[in-house]
Amino acid sequence: MFKKILIANRGEIACRVIRTARRMGIRTVAVYSDADRHAMHVRLADEAVRIGPAPSAQSYLVIDAIVEACKATGAEAVHPGYGFLSEKTAFAAALEAIGVAFIGPKPHAITAMGDKIESKKLAKAAGVSTVPGYTDVIDGPEHAVKIAREIGYPVMLKASAGGGGKGMRVVRNDEECRDGFQRATNEAVSSFGDGRVFAEKYIEEPRHIEIQVLADAHGNTLWLNERECSIQRRHQKVIEEAPSPFLDAKTRKAMGEQAVALAKAVDYQSAGTVEFIVDRDRNFYFLEMNTRLQVEHPVTELITGLDLVELMIRVAAGEKLPLKQKDVKIDGWALEARVYAEDPFRNFLPSIGRLVRCQPPAGSDHVRVDTGIEEGSEVSMYYDPMIAKLITSGGTRDEAIDRMADALDEYHIRGVSHNISFLNALVSHPRFREGRLSTNFIAEEYPHGFHAADVPREDPALAVVIAAAIHRRFMDRAAKLSGQLPSHERQVGNEFVVIIGQHHHPVTVVPVAGGCDVRLGDRTHRVTTAWQFGNPLVRAEVDGRPVCFQLDRVGIRYRLSHRGAQVDALVCEPRAAGLAGLMLAKVPPDLSKFLLSPMPGLLVRLAVTVGQELKAGEEIAVVEAMKMENSLRATDDVKITRILAEQGQSLVVDQPIVEFG
Ligand code: ADP
Ligand code: ADP
Ligand code: MG
Repeated sequence: MFKKILIANRGEIACRVIRTARRMGIRTVAVYSDADRHAMHVRLADEAVRIGPAPSAQSYLVIDAIVEACKATGAEAVHPGYGFLSEKTAFAAALEAIGVAFIGPKPHAITAMGDKIESKKLAKAAGVSTVPGYTDVIDGPEHAVKIAREIGYPVMLKASAGGGGKGMRVVRNDEECRDGFQRATNEAVSSFGDGRVFAEKYIEEPRHIEIQVLADAHGNTLWLNERECSIQRRHQKVIEEAPSPFLDAKTRKAMGEQAVALAKAVDYQSAGTVEFIVDRDRNFYFLEMNTRLQVEHPVTELITGLDLVELMIRVAAGEKLPLKQKDVKIDGWALEARVYAEDPFRNFLPSIGRLVRCQPPAGSDHVRVDTGIEEGSEVSMYYDPMIAKLITSGGTRDEAIDRMADALDEYHIRGVSHNISFLNALVSHPRFREGRLSTNFIAEEYPHGFHAADVPREDPALAVVIAAAIHRRFMDRAAKLSGQLPSHERQVGNEFVVIIGQHHHPVTVVPVAGGCDVRLGDRTHRVTTAWQFGNPLVRAEVDGRPVCFQLDRVGIRYRLSHRGAQVDALVCEPRAAGLAGLMLAKVPPDLSKFLLSPMPGLLVRLAVTVGQELKAGEEIAVVEAMKMENSLRATDDVKITRILAEQGQSLVVDQPIVEFG
């Protein structure tokens, strides 16, 4: 076995690999860019080597820098994680050339599967079912239309070099096809430097189901069951699970055997994933093979009890797989949610900044948190904005989902926007609970984006009761503070009014041992809690039911977050509540005449001048954030009356860029 390995990655996956290596008694070497000098993966590793400045093109993507780090530290093998260099043949080959083992497949397998057109041809030849279509390069928009008509609309145009959901377009008629071809080509050139595009039938009501394979150098190739990753936003996975609620044993076996046949056809070694698209009749078709560890591998680990990273390391060291196909089990259910620094209420714009608070739920046999950042870390603009992967398991799918909802409630993140309310809404969605998934789930259920109104409504009494109980604690503490004359202490009454929005909820709060009784309307709710001042999580039982609310103080209000919903509650004495109704509400400034920057970023282009008239839909400015160019367009016909920011300027969120007349 290796004595020392290097991890050519960062973030959660670097930390995850280091943990397994350490358990196996292997020393670890981390690599880091200047932005990651203090990162968790650097601290966890036994040694660390600086490989360059922050941009990945100058650090994590530089093959020579990693090769030098191997030489300098004497690492015998390299785990590439996912992304970065994990699927670059040249990297695996460069390591081979200096006698360092690549913990992944051999270079020829990476090459064979790295190109969608070539891998599809290979799969076909290996007897794997593929999506009907045209597996050659399309040479222009008119050619695309001809091919699309032959295949029959709808058609999916795809970049052969594509990945990460980029360079893909669904087209439903000739016009969309010409336009889609152009866009897919442009995106493919700019993202992959390779503009080849091909076409295949678009599968309706598609489900994304993939098979994990694992092979050693001794001819043993196994399939480790499936993962369903149908919950996607723009072809990017959001929630994954294993097993799939859709597969029967027969389909599972057929898919597994085809995946193994494909792996064998390229003499595959190590862990890999064969992705399929499955239609409503359970016909399945090969999409692509990812020749690396997948982001969502933990759900497979939780249902099979295997450590995929350990097995990858053992295979790379030349060992035989310690199990046979018949030993591969499905035990229970597992779910993964990707927690991102992005704002679901602002069209999922990436958010950057410091994690002022970051307290993940406690880990257990059924809750796993894979993360590479912690309180005080910065989510920078240089890398993927994933904060963590939250993985839960249970004996049944329902149990795993319930644990996920609870774990999301406990995940406390402040300082950057995050998608926890969206994840919570997804796992609470009745259609998700029923397992009626499709890759269009999010687009169908949230056709106009995600809004506060999409957050599932819990029993509103719950927030009222919690706000009342918390307020009573604050009042009792205030009354006990020193400086009051003996026997002239302030008395705390039992009557309060909880004001949420325009609604006034009169309550009576009576302290009892370990909590209080809150009378609301004609019901009395027993609240018990060990909550202490300063704790942002209020864990309580309300009428015996455990709940966890997140608590923030916003001015004199309590902001309570639970199951993705957020309410601001003002609690006061009845007399004050009467007066609160007389208070003039502060009218928010009218910002409708301004174009505001929707995110922090760089104003890379300002396309207008003072006095210019624009039609709705015309571009005003382009703001770059997290390497993505976001085009800001006029929503109505407008005239520009003032310019408030300069091209090249860094903008904060909500900073005005132009004013309209
Ligand atoms: P998975 O199925 O493991 O989620 P993805 O295709 O989403 O696979 O990719 C995993 C990681 O690799 C993500 O961080 C993604 O951004 C990155 N990635 C994948 N393909 C590419 C690519 N061609 N260029 C840049 N990044 C990529
Ligand atoms: P990437 O390399 O970007 O991961 P994939 O070929 O794996 O590209 O496709 C990504 C996603 O796009 C799939 O998970 C699926 O949701 C969708 N998709 C791809 N091909 C088709 C198709 N022929 N029909 C319907 N959906 C598709
Ligand atoms: Mg894919």
